[in-house]
Amino acid sequence: MNPVLSVVIPMYNEELVLPLLAQRLRPVLDGLGEPYEVVAVDDGSADATPAVLAGLRRSWPELRVIRLRRNCGHQAALAAGIRSAFGDYLVSIDADLQDPPEVIPEMLAKARAGGLDVVYGIRSDRTTDTAFKRGTAGLYYRLMRRLVGRQMPDQAGDFRLLSRAAVDALSELPEQAPVYRLVVPWLGLPSGEVSYARERRAAGETKYPLSKMVKLTVDSVTSFSAAPLRLATWLGLSVVALCVALAAAAVIAFATGSVVPGWASTYLVVLFIGAIQLVCLGVLGEYVAQIYRTLQARPAYFIGYDSAAPDSGSSTGRRQIPAPRSTSHEQVPRS
Ligand code: UDP
Ligand code: MG
Repeated sequence: MNPVLSVVIPMYNEELVLPLLAQRLRPVLDGLGEPYEVVAVDDGSADATPAVLAGLRRSWPELRVIRLRRNCGHQAALAAGIRSAFGDYLVSIDADLQDPPEVIPEMLAKARAGGLDVVYGIRSDRTTDTAFKRGTAGLYYRLMRRLVGRQMPDQAGDFRLLSRAAVDALSELPEQAPVYRLVVPWLGLPSGEVSYARERRAAGETKYPLSKMVKLTVDSVTSFSAAPLRLATWLGLSVVALCVALAAAAVIAFATGSVVPGWASTYLVVLFIGAIQLVCLGVLGEYVAQIYRTLQARPAYFIGYDSAAPDSGSSTGRRQIPAPRSTSHEQVPRS
């Protein structure tokens, strides 16, 4: 029987948080009184995450474990979970308990009552995030709302509910690992919101260093807007106008006989134009990279192991990687 609800949790090196997550998530889901599955997508963790998951699974049959062969990144892990889930509804949530699991029944009730395909979790209070995180996230959401349009809710991350229809619509997209927080509003399906206060990470450290945040932003922009390419044109045109003005100034200086000892300014202009050319090349490069990835059409992730399909091999038809072997970490109790 298909579960009514799938809860998809991408995780990378979350051994410390997992027991706390199970402790809070399980009572909420058991309390629904409906069949559910928890799809834990282990994004190639290098710590004891696989062993902790195997331990939890022994006493929690609804927990399903999908292991990617290597670290493919949060969005790719999310894609693996979303495409593998069986539920009529799907909720994606972070492993670190920053998104409170207690909100899930509210999302489900809202979707059913209003016949909604998407229910966004809106972070109404981010005071527990660092000032740096709040600042960069604020910039990110402002930029994305400009790209995607007003239908993108502010402060909606990857904590959201999707109906089966929404999941199918997402699966039909050609992208291997779309940036879901942009693509979901872009689908234009009937949607609602549930607001919640963002909590502190329950344990461990952030798995989103600055480099991953920059990558997400670049992927988001280049997958949704050609505006930066136009920026190159505008910059080029501005420099042409500047050159015309400089040429006019030079002619006037020559006519009035005043000598311009302009080595510094000459160097500045040359450097400035060189810099602009490099910026434009960089912008072009990002889009060429995007086209290149799309043409290659390589999968964004490889499933090495899926506890729901132990005999069927990996989803790409390649050699199956065996389930993680038992270690002392599997003794971790459920609560
Ligand atoms: N994550 C992942 N793969 C990665 C990085 C992060 O699956 O390469 C998961 C992580 O385990 C967590 C979620 O993505 O469940 C969000 O990451 P995190 O909480 O570290 O980000 P932050 O809240 O600091 O932005
Ligand atoms: Mg977090």
